[in-house]
Amino acid sequence: MNLPAHLQTIWQDLGIEPEVLQQKSLCVFDEAEELVDVETTFDGRVWQLTPAAAQAWQAMQAAALTDGIELKIASAYRASSRQVELIQRKLDLGQSINEILQVLAPPGCSEHHTGRALDIYQPGGPVVEEAFETTTAFAWLQQYAKIYGFTLSFPRDNAFAYVYEPWHWCWHPPHP
Ligand SMILES: [Zn+2]
Repeated sequence: MNLPAHLQTIWQDLGIEPEVLQQKSLCVFDEAEELVDVETTFDGRVWQLTPAAAQAWQAMQAAALTDGIELKIASAYRASSRQVELIQRKLDLGQSINEILQVLAPPGCSEHHTGRALDIYQPGGPVVEEAFETTTAFAWLQQYAKIYGFTLSFPRDNAFAYVYEPWHWCWHPPHP
């Protein structure tokens, strides 16, 4: 896969080599076309997903709740432009682009802009930390998430050279 033209300048400005795409076996994901509001945080932020992913999430969330497990959204849809801001902020803090790319996907390569990816937490538990894997929410997700079409994108020792992200789940359309 080659880097699409609209990403070339953005990557160049951030100091990301186009070769990173092959080196990290990254995919360029399409930006969500349609989004619906899913959840509002206590500080008024609205999380959005595509309509199909939202429906699957709500079904999964309700099922977990009947098992006594509360699932909450730490992050959902993020525009590619937001990914640029997140990377730029870390660069401004003096981190190298290589360090940053171990925890953040290059613009265009984050599943969050597909509107199908979610970072999940359990109230009172760790948020976007590896320790999420010790929660009852994670155990529940490991057992049941696939029923709702959600899979763990970055398991331990994943092929993308990303850190292990037990909190990051992505909804995939069912195969016909
Ligand atoms: Zn995530």
